[in-house]
Amino acid sequence: MRSDAAAAAGYLNAGGGADSLGAAGRRADAVPAAGATPVAAAPVQGERADAASAQGERADAPGRPGGAPTRPAAGAAAPVARAPTPTPEPVVPATDFDALREQVLQCTACGLCQGRRHAVFGMGARPARWMVVGEAPGEQEDRQGLPFVGRSGQLLDAMLSAVGMSREKDVFIANVIKCRPPGNRNPKPEEIAACSPYLKRQIELIRPERILVLGRFAAQTLLGTDATIGSLRGRQHVWTMDDGHRIPVVVSYHPAYLLRSPVEKARAWQDLQLAMALA
Ligand code: SF4
Repeated sequence: MRSDAAAAAGYLNAGGGADSLGAAGRRADAVPAAGATPVAAAPVQGERADAASAQGERADAPGRPGGAPTRPAAGAAAPVARAPTPTPEPVVPATDFDALREQVLQCTACGLCQGRRHAVFGMGARPARWMVVGEAPGEQEDRQGLPFVGRSGQLLDAMLSAVGMSREKDVFIANVIKCRPPGNRNPKPEEIAACSPYLKRQIELIRPERILVLGRFAAQTLLGTDATIGSLRGRQHVWTMDDGHRIPVVVSYHPAYLLRSPVEKARAWQDLQLAMALA
């Protein structure tokens, strides 16, 4: 493994500066203390109200203005007549990982299914030592059906590499919300309530050694708090599974925020070191 100094240097230099955020740009981070409530029990957070400088988690350069429904890819023979009606029944996630993936891809449990190109189930190693949890797909994630792509994804990969890990071998990456909110708006409480059981089941099936939560929204939702990210990071939280198994949770900044505020990379590095040091 690389030395701490070398690893930190590589990661701290990764991703460029805030000036070139471009299509990146997740929502920022500033959050205070709290607990460790499982997703399903988390008090649903509503609209996020960060300062403008702390906004913009999801990138959206050439996105969909106004959150208009996504059009089929160029070259498609005809528009896909896809107008699924959200199902009112609560989601009961599958117990098998592949079945769970298929369930997410076909899910119509909330209105976000109507505008998505792809539901983004997640990707990464199985088994996985860590889970990385973000907020929701942005435009590129929606297009590709993969989490953390683009410059934010590159920075996340650099962060993981700095601690000797990769999404291919060690980490499974998922979001709290599986379908892109139109225009990258904040997920609504009912959307969070509908989708959170999928993440909960992913955690149960993967059973990672620890969870790294990136960004204010994901941290608040996962931990069931409205505390600022500033107060949540720098210490260990715990996710307690239904069977009593406890998983350490570390909160850090979202890579898109780090692209805009590279000075915070040093703190994010501290968060990674904390996650590595946890027993
Ligand atoms: S956001 Fe979640 S609950 Fe809503 S349709 Fe997509 S997968 Fe289903």
